[in-house]
Amino acid sequence: MRRVALLGATGSIGRQAIEIVDAHPELELCAVASGSSSLDGVEAPFKQVGGDLTRLLDEAEPDVVLNAVVGFAGIHATIWALERGVDLALANKESLVAAGELAVAAGAHGGGRMLPVDSEHSAIYQCLEGRSVEQVHSLVLTASGGPFRGRTRDELRDVTPEQALAHPTWHMGSKITIDSATLANKGLELIEAHFLFGIPYEQVEVVVQPTSIVHSLVRFRDGAVLAHLGYPDMRVPISYALTYPTRAATPLAPLDLASLTLEFHAPDLETFPMLALAREAGEKGGTYPCAYNAANEVAVAAFLEGRLAFLDIAEVVADALGRVDGSPARDVDELVEADAASRALADERLAVA
Ligand code: NAD
Ligand code: MG
Repeated sequence: MRRVALLGATGSIGRQAIEIVDAHPELELCAVASGSSSLDGVEAPFKQVGGDLTRLLDEAEPDVVLNAVVGFAGIHATIWALERGVDLALANKESLVAAGELAVAAGAHGGGRMLPVDSEHSAIYQCLEGRSVEQVHSLVLTASGGPFRGRTRDELRDVTPEQALAHPTWHMGSKITIDSATLANKGLELIEAHFLFGIPYEQVEVVVQPTSIVHSLVRFRDGAVLAHLGYPDMRVPISYALTYPTRAATPLAPLDLASLTLEFHAPDLETFPMLALAREAGEKGGTYPCAYNAANEVAVAAFLEGRLAFLDIAEVVADALGRVDGSPARDVDELVEADAASRALADERLAVA
């Protein structure tokens, strides 16, 4: 029996995770948490709406933490699992992006293992299957390109939250859906890949694959390229992480290969500056990735509330990155300070936008 603590149980990932747990008698929920939405109808010995997630985890003693909280709010739960040698099924990419080296060090010291739930990283994890990074030429993250693929900056000036929320291939929470429209999601995933797989940024590529059938690829030094294909359905990577390494069955239909045409395009870095900004923040290191994430969270919330234009999301983030100090955090408290500092700069910029 694997005891699963599901954080963010009412969200898009959370609800699909409950479906996976219900389908497998060897999985049970020992704790569920949400930010503010009701957990009525979800059965678990420990339930918590809001509040300190690490106290819940202390009480519940899970075998695996599925962190499906959205945003930096998931940080303490991520570190909790890594430090205690508890498996971390990680959907909450923002916590790994923000914590970076601190998270890697917590895992190395405490023994917690990261099992990616993000579909691209799950794909790469499976293509790598424990092979050493020396054999890898590069990792190739695929992006759908989001709802605005192919548009010019002029055509993005007046887009509304409703238009940005209409993702072509995935149905997800609103924050990650906006991140997909700006390509900030791929930016966060680039940094996530760097820390998950311990690979330099120059060895992580991004390619647009509009139908989201190719979940990602790994190029090896001998010229071979391994790809991971499947329908865009998060139940697969959730199930893979929760039942690792046994790859339990899911109810998905087999991939209909004869119906597929696979296209790949280079991403449009000029129209979607959030991707290049992430690479820059990642390469600078320290708390720059944390600042990138924090300013983006503020800007996305403002866009969703109609207080910021779509193109100004990147302006707010670039402005914050230009003004933060970016020095490395020695502990989680300093990380929380770096997050708050970047949020304050983003708020300042919003006030004049
Ligand atoms: P969502 O908005 O649908 O759900 C977020 C969940 O987090 C909700 O249950 C909410 O109550 C909870 N939450 C928010 N703040 C919290 C707090 N302070 N404490 C406890 N719970 C809190 O978001 P989502 O789409 O499910 O995404 C969750 C995470 O998974 C994000 O980091 C996202 O980037 C990542 N992810 C999602 C998908 C997807 O298909 N939805 C794919 C890959 C990665
Ligand atoms: Mg993803």
